[in-house]
Amino acid sequence: MASKRSTFRILTQGKCPRCGEGDMFLDGNPYHLGNMGKMHKTCKQCGLRFEPETGFYYGSMYLSYAIGVFSSLIVFAIFNFIFGISTTWSFIIVAGVWIGISPFLFRFSRTLWLSLFTNRHRDI
Ligand SMILES: [Zn+2]
Repeated sequence: MASKRSTFRILTQGKCPRCGEGDMFLDGNPYHLGNMGKMHKTCKQCGLRFEPETGFYYGSMYLSYAIGVFSSLIVFAIFNFIFGISTTWSFIIVAGVWIGISPFLFRFSRTLWLSLFTNRHRDI
């Protein structure tokens, strides 16, 4: 079983969910928007296919949406209920945060989606 730290690294850095070493994405920086969705076909370390079937990542959009909505509710609650900032400004802050994290969230949800369908092993 993977340690929490390595699972965190895999999900936040877009590493292969099976070996934890190979890069899933061509460009390591998700904020280079032109290359945001470009992926390697297979893992350079263990050979895992990163797109097992056509349209595989369609489901990751639902994951991305759910994570985005949940995190937005938390951000809204922090600014509106804890800091007492007006509802309008809290929505503006939420929109800014959501736009800001979108490239990261795109990759995070794809990596998480693939990891849900991949058995993790460390003996490679
Ligand atoms: Zn791999």
